[in-house]
Amino acid sequence: MESRAARKGAAPTAQEEAERERKRAIEEHRKGAQALEGCRQCLGGPAFQRHLLVALGRTCTLSLPAHASLTEGHCVVSPSAHVAASTLLDEDVWREMQEFRYSCLNFLPSTCEAGTVL
Ligand SMILES: [Zn+2]
Repeated sequence: MESRAARKGAAPTAQEEAERERKRAIEEHRKGAQALEGCRQCLGGPAFQRHLLVALGRTCTLSLPAHASLTEGHCVVSPSAHVAASTLLDEDVWREMQEFRYSCLNFLPSTCEAGTVL
């Protein structure tokens, strides 16, 4: 078999394309695993602090912040599975997060400001 270097300028073979795709998939998996390992919001991740969990939904969680609260009653609604940005969420996950948010707003005493649930 002739190497690609020997075939200079030739299109990659199917075997070379498969190998490139395999390496890309391995790298993508490695980056995903690394992100999950350090994420404090992912339910299945090793860094998730279960003692801060308040409520567990179908696709998301309500928890206390792992850092200093921004205000009294500060809670965090986050998806159970790791997502890089809220714009990448599935529609059902986003809907459940909004339901958690509205439930928290309804739960707050009328003396609290509505802006505490973001
Ligand atoms: Zn995560």
